[in-house]
Amino acid sequence: MNSVKVSRKAELRVESGHPWIYSSDVTDRAKAQPGEAVRVLNQRGQCLGVAHYSAASQITLRLLTHKDEPLDRAFYLNRLRTALEFRQRAVTNTDSYRLVHAEGDLLPGLMVDRYGDYLVLQLLDQGMDAASATLTDCLQELLQPKGILARNDVFVRKLEDLSQEPEVLAGEIPERVLVHMNGLQMEADLRHGQKTGVYLDQRENYVAAARWAHGRALDCFTSSGGFALHMAPKCESVEGVDSGPEVLKTAEINRAANGLANVSFREANAFDYLSGLAQARRAFETVVLDPPAFAKSRANLDAALRGYKEINFKALKLLSRRGILVTCSCSHHVGENDLMEVVAQAALDAGRTLRILERRTQAQDHPILLTVPETLYLKLFICEVI
Ligand code: SAH
Repeated sequence: MNSVKVSRKAELRVESGHPWIYSSDVTDRAKAQPGEAVRVLNQRGQCLGVAHYSAASQITLRLLTHKDEPLDRAFYLNRLRTALEFRQRAVTNTDSYRLVHAEGDLLPGLMVDRYGDYLVLQLLDQGMDAASATLTDCLQELLQPKGILARNDVFVRKLEDLSQEPEVLAGEIPERVLVHMNGLQMEADLRHGQKTGVYLDQRENYVAAARWAHGRALDCFTSSGGFALHMAPKCESVEGVDSGPEVLKTAEINRAANGLANVSFREANAFDYLSGLAQARRAFETVVLDPPAFAKSRANLDAALRGYKEINFKALKLLSRRGILVTCSCSHHVGENDLMEVVAQAALDAGRTLRILERRTQAQDHPILLTVPETLYLKLFICEVI
């Protein structure tokens, strides 16, 4: 195994429980090759652990273990088995869930989503990309899937100088896969769908939202209809809005498959649509806001916060007393406090008094590692107008 040397600063970071070492903290790369496992040494030559080396990214090293051990088949099999055992304890009422959540499962650079008999991987750095065949082999041993797909068409792979083409790694991947979640049936387009097919991270939040939903409901940024379909049995009517025509086709298929007659979907820009509803003096008892990440980086945080405030303000204007607002942010750069402040400001401007009924985050199959803040990205409040 090749070795690389890192600065004292990097060593302190590793000691604080964070697996990333930035390019500027690597003092000697020696013969390290792109994507290989390397021994990480401090300035005195002591081994801090073994990492994946990336020759392209600003994150040069991602530590997988604090021991001096090879990252071989047995290593990956053990990590994957541990991840699976956690899901067997944590996940209920679904055949689809995130099996590996990168750092949250001590496997930086790797996401694995399970859709029944099919697996979808995201290999997000050079190290995991190089380990692709071994990972495929281990997953076959553990789960005997009918097909394994690598959804490698993600932007971060560009930062790693990796191709951006999806690839079938084993078996076959059908055009559509049926997902059974919380008693509902949903279609997932594993090859082309948003994320890897379904927003698995909202799975537990769908149930929470449905618990409080009532009356006339509006689901903004509905995608394939997750919140809308879950809330339908509790509501008089549900309208789902999204700007993407493709996801709305799936939403409509899901609606019909579950025999939910009180749900309708509409293609529109949610910002404009909310304004139009206010002008038409329409009222709702429940509004869900699950927008895409407005803050892609720290640099546009202010603009993002203005965006969150605007949609929350518009949504609150439509809500009557006892109305329910389900509001989310999946931007990692927007903290829970940021979202809380923005919603509070929006409520003041809209003349509504809100109480928080639930503070939530991503589903438990997307585990949060306490020392790696990046693993916590989804924030959600369920609020009531009082
Ligand atoms: N609530 C969904 C996930 C939403 S993801 C679920 O649980 O499945 C964000 C969605 O917002 C995407 O489907 C995207 O197509 C949509 N979107 C992005 N910008 C939009 C806009 N301005 N108006 C309406 N929809 C938008």
